[in-house]
Amino acid sequence: MGRVGGKVALVTGGAMGIGAATCRLLAREGAKVAVTDINSEAGEAVARDIVENGGNARFYRHDVASQDDWRRALAAVRNDFGPLDILVNNAGIVIVNTVEDATLEEWRRTQEINLESVFVGTQEAIGVMKDNGGGSIINISSVMGLVGGTIEAAYCASKGGVRMFTKSAAVYCAEQGYGIRVNSVHPGYIMTPLLTNAASTLPNAEEVVSDLISRHPLGHLGEADDIAYGILYLASDESKFVTGSELVIDGGYTAK
Ligand code: NAP
Repeated sequence: MGRVGGKVALVTGGAMGIGAATCRLLAREGAKVAVTDINSEAGEAVARDIVENGGNARFYRHDVASQDDWRRALAAVRNDFGPLDILVNNAGIVIVNTVEDATLEEWRRTQEINLESVFVGTQEAIGVMKDNGGGSIINISSVMGLVGGTIEAAYCASKGGVRMFTKSAAVYCAEQGYGIRVNSVHPGYIMTPLLTNAASTLPNAEEVVSDLISRHPLGHLGEADDIAYGILYLASDESKFVTGSELVIDGGYTAK
């Protein structure tokens, strides 16, 4: 059956990077996977690839900043696959800025995609899961939700918000007896389009990337699968006693 055999999962930002790796891994471990993203072409390709490899997946266009999109996507998934068991709030953006040069527009856009969407998605998923015996909600934060990064002011605020919102939702759901677990995951720097795109906006991209590498005691950046395996654990019943926790997968970044 696999580690998440028969479960229904929705992964936001599933077209690329950590989200795509998570969709593939959850499908390999038996889940029916809703790949959702604003990038339809890449998202369709991920879902198609999963199906061609014997898995069960479908793509849904879904902008996490839109509450209407959330409702439409959840209703479609329920209709196509059945009640939702796993939500991975993964979609996110990074705009490189410091506390001095960040604009209010950049700040608000970052909170909208990285933090507000996690609130809306978690709230909508609880509404569905609580009537179906529970589920697992996994919110992707960052090491930047644990320690400060100088060139990611707005991003740090959003990811710190995800960390504490996750704990609040976890305790609430536990106290209500919903059977819904809510946890956050804190990746170190992972080689994905998000990282390469952010680095490419800097004049000294190569220097910045080698500085980032040196901050990871294991001596290299992470891979999307490193994070997907942690998400798989939190999605599966192996983590049935885990809620409100923060799973740090960072090559030792925050240990020193
Ligand atoms: P990625 O490679 O950029 O993939 C993110 C996906 O989300 C892209 O397909 C992107 O589409 C999509 N997306 C962006 N805005 C969206 C929206 N409003 N609605 C739905 N989908 C949207 O990113 P990643 O590196 O895999 O990051 C995934 C998560 O991990 C993010 O929350 C990120 O903050 C977190 N994280 C990443 C790292 C890292 O080093 N990579 C480290 C710590 C935490 P477009 O490409 O069209 O924008």
